[in-house]
Amino acid sequence: MTPLTCDLWWGDLTATSPDRLRTLSALLDADERQRHARFRLQADKDRYALAHGLARLAVGRAAGIAPESVTFDLRCVPCERKADPPDRGPHGKPRPSGPAEGWEISFSHSGDRVLLAMARGVRVGADVERVRSLRASLDGLLDHALTEGERADLAALGPQEREAAFFTYWSRKEALLKATGEGVGNLTAVTLSVPGAPIEVRSWDSPDAPAPGHVHLRDIPAGDEYRAAVAVLTPRPLEIAVRDAAELLR
Ligand SMILES: [Zn+2]
Repeated sequence: MTPLTCDLWWGDLTATSPDRLRTLSALLDADERQRHARFRLQADKDRYALAHGLARLAVGRAAGIAPESVTFDLRCVPCERKADPPDRGPHGKPRPSGPAEGWEISFSHSGDRVLLAMARGVRVGADVERVRSLRASLDGLLDHALTEGERADLAALGPQEREAAFFTYWSRKEALLKATGEGVGNLTAVTLSVPGAPIEVRSWDSPDAPAPGHVHLRDIPAGDEYRAAVAVLTPRPLEIAVRDAAELLR
């Protein structure tokens, strides 16, 4: 089988000037502009503009169209599964439509980083998490994110390793659940091997879970302060091309 390439674009807020951010915000469509306007904190506005602007630039370049012409359909898998979905208007995972149909994307932001994954014809999920202190909220977050077996595996690690391992778990699980479009509301649907051991999906309770041989789940190096992962759902061998968003912003 020919390898499939997944492009990963890294954006960094600290390396993006206010002028660039204004240029990126100008690429947003009407819905995106509304959301952008609703953020109260400037940092949230900036992260949103960088993530969504980058998605337009990367998809536009791949599809050979102007970034402003890129359109997305929003699809919410959890709502589609409900007999009587709430009427919330369009929401969910963006999927390129129109001339860019066939490309799949996933993006994530945390702290100063933005990560965009892109591939053609296969489902992708990306997640980046800034490693932060868990002391205050450890118990609630652990129950929210980890299954009983994972919590036991995490508890067996040394106290020094535990925090980073938790965010490794979290980024891997979010990447998987973002790939299927299920979203991150149910992180305990997936059980993974403990960080430090080879990455293995031990169980995945979902009607959309792919066959075991159809899942690539990889950590993406992101420095000590961040954990990042990408999931690509394909039986084909996978090549990952890690790229710097500065290349698109020139
Ligand atoms: Zn929904």
